[in-house]
Amino acid sequence: MVRWGMIGAGTIGREWMADAIAAQPDGELRGIASSDPQRARAFAQEKGIPVAYESVAALLADPDIDAVYISTTNDLHKSQTLAAAAAGKHILCEKPLALTLDDAREMVAACAAAGVVLGTNHHLRNAATHRAMRELVTSGAIGDVQAARVFHAVHLPPHLQGWRVKRPDAGGGVILDITVHDADTVRFVLDDEIATVTAMTASQGMGEGVEDAVMGVMRTAQGRLVQFHDSFTARHAYTGFEVHGTDGSLYARNVMTQQPVGTVVLRREGVEEEVTVAPENLYVRSVRQFNAAVSGVGQPAATAHDGLCSLAVALAALESARTGCIAHVPAV
Ligand code: NDP
Repeated sequence: MVRWGMIGAGTIGREWMADAIAAQPDGELRGIASSDPQRARAFAQEKGIPVAYESVAALLADPDIDAVYISTTNDLHKSQTLAAAAAGKHILCEKPLALTLDDAREMVAACAAAGVVLGTNHHLRNAATHRAMRELVTSGAIGDVQAARVFHAVHLPPHLQGWRVKRPDAGGGVILDITVHDADTVRFVLDDEIATVTAMTASQGMGEGVEDAVMGVMRTAQGRLVQFHDSFTARHAYTGFEVHGTDGSLYARNVMTQQPVGTVVLRREGVEEEVTVAPENLYVRSVRQFNAAVSGVGQPAATAHDGLCSLAVALAALESARTGCIAHVPAV
């Protein structure tokens, strides 16, 4: 039985993760802590969580907590992960792991030294659609993969138009919010690493001091080209993910989303067939795999290493947009 505490009483916790943690037969959501004790109490009451702690330190001092889920703003992930690791808690941390690669490396090293599991909550690789695409790619169903295209332009709802669109110090901006997910999904579906990135950003009505749109191209270690478009201001766009190989193409629509929805079509020689997928709540699957890892079975769906890799790609996109040059993704 994995006994969980939540750090941060925010939207992702409310909409998805509290329920996903509570849904596990081998887990229990015991408590929550917030920078504001009143917010923790209100959240606990809303979700039926037994304990609302007065502080994050109080949660970490509780020996009845085995694992924490960190979903505060991006600037706080590092200090809270280091504190949790020092307290011997396993950690499922939201993406991006940190604001710099050095900080993320320090988190990974601290968790390894403390002997606790660190996972990154990249939800998309838990989607039945993306898993089916990876299976088709790695089994050779579309031949040699040459290119992919990621359509991840969305409209940020009003209740999320806070730190994400106006606080660079908190890790705001579409690249650290969405491109980081693209990076993880591309790595997962193509079973490949991203080696270089070129990107251009824009502010198209929402971002204040941070970019709210980005387009770019990645080149993978195996030489594939990946085009991406991420935005907070695309009110009417579908999301999607395409993979093009020598023997076929995959067209996935409405798949860059939190919901267990979307379709995947395999197109070969002009013939289209819809791929059968068995949808499951992405976050429930993420927590299930994390609980198993804590019990010594397998690894989190997205490991600490995956979190490092996706952050390195996002930081390279930011660097490319700033310098106007192709950015190399450093080895992690
Ligand atoms: P929110 O802005 O809703 O919450 C972020 C943090 O802000 C909360 O954890 C909370 O921390 C604090 N907070 C909440 N309400 C208030 C308030 N009224 N006034 C001041 N502070 C408040 O962001 P999200 O929940 O959307 O995102 C949190 C993290 O999760 C980010 O790292 C983000 O990148 C990630 N995320 C991941 C997703 C995924 O699918 N993997 C999807 C969405 C987000 P505290 O209570 O401690 O103050």
